[in-house]
Amino acid sequence: MKASIILVGTELLSGGTVDTNSIFMAEELNKYGIEIKYKLTAKDTIEDILEALDFARKHSDLIITSGGLGPTIDDITKDAVAMFLNKKIVVDDEDLAIMKKKFEDRQVKYTPNNIKQVEKPEGAVSIQNQVGMCPAVYVDGIVCFPGVPSEVYDMFPRFLKWYSEEKKLLVDEIYIRDLLVYGIGESHLDQMISGFFTEEGIDYEFLVKDFGIIIRLQGKNSNKNIVEKIAEKIYNIIGANIFGEGEDRLENLVIEKLKKNNLTLSVAESCTGGMLSAKIVGVSGASEIYKEGLTTYSNEAKVKRLGVKQETLDKYGAVSEETAREMVQGLTTDVAISTTGIAGPLGGTEEKPVGLVYMGIRVKDKIIVEKKVFVGTRNKIRERATLQSLFYLNKMLKGMY
Ligand code: ATP
Repeated sequence: MKASIILVGTELLSGGTVDTNSIFMAEELNKYGIEIKYKLTAKDTIEDILEALDFARKHSDLIITSGGLGPTIDDITKDAVAMFLNKKIVVDDEDLAIMKKKFEDRQVKYTPNNIKQVEKPEGAVSIQNQVGMCPAVYVDGIVCFPGVPSEVYDMFPRFLKWYSEEKKLLVDEIYIRDLLVYGIGESHLDQMISGFFTEEGIDYEFLVKDFGIIIRLQGKNSNKNIVEKIAEKIYNIIGANIFGEGEDRLENLVIEKLKKNNLTLSVAESCTGGMLSAKIVGVSGASEIYKEGLTTYSNEAKVKRLGVKQETLDKYGAVSEETAREMVQGLTTDVAISTTGIAGPLGGTEEKPVGLVYMGIRVKDKIIVEKKVFVGTRNKIRERATLQSLFYLNKMLKGMY
């Protein structure tokens, strides 16, 4: 089965908005073995959307549109689809009642132009929107979603489930295993694992995410055993860098382990300046184990708040193994993390270049200090240090140090 995606929105062509919806859609379609034939981006004009629909129809069984379902004058995707299919636009009374109730519950004023959000080509099926106002609609091989990513994330998987049942797609024929890797680059990974894929119909791909790289192993259900064997081989060579699978994330894993072992956590951040704390607090239930996060940016703060020795700072500098070590020693919880580094772009020297970060991890009395030189912008370096320190803590909690 082939699908094409049409992204509607002039701002997507002018560079005002970066398309992320189609990336999400691609990953979901992949799970159902639906191939994406084309991705098209069209301006908010009837002619351009019609042209895109016409092209997509010739090359695909399913057309997915995103954007242009709102209440304003430039939201015309459903009108274009109705025109393309030679259908009338009608208001769905059930959808209207649901939407009016949402306006009421959210105490938002309903205005007459909002009715546009529950219009649809005659005969279309609605997929209810649990996040926003406007349902997605499906008719004759064309499904229209809003542009807002959170609404796409909510409705798209539910649509695909319904669609695959409706079309009797043999979804259970596809077996997927997502291994989550941190700390090895894509090209290096490829060199290491490509030799394992010698069997016909067993594929892999890399999905680069801000939390690491997903190695997606995929094959027919009947080949599940082969996929499992390949996964095992991958674990054997890079197991130390695989922090989880599927929906696992480093911060969730760490917090889970701390809870399980009744351990409290605090952090002392210099170059990451609160990012690590924010990541931890982003996990629901973190309060059970997370006690405090100190942003000790200046030398004075490191001395005053954490008891780092002035001699240490004078002798080795703030960005040093010794300082990172004393930072975690200055925190009183069972487990502690410290970060100290040079995020740049200024401040680097030959001896201590931009990107140099020391991360201290203490679990009870055991301390490790790791050094890394990250590349990238100031923000990227801070993000990498944040994840890397969680990666070390996760490993340490797994007893791998
Ligand atoms: P609304 O009711 O907000 O008007 P809509 O369905 O009409 O929803 P658009 O107006 O096209 O959607 O887009 C809403 C917002 O969603 C845009 O401002 C943009 O930030 C975001 N958006 C649109 N398309 C994409 C896309 N392909 N990827 C990521 N974000 C997108």
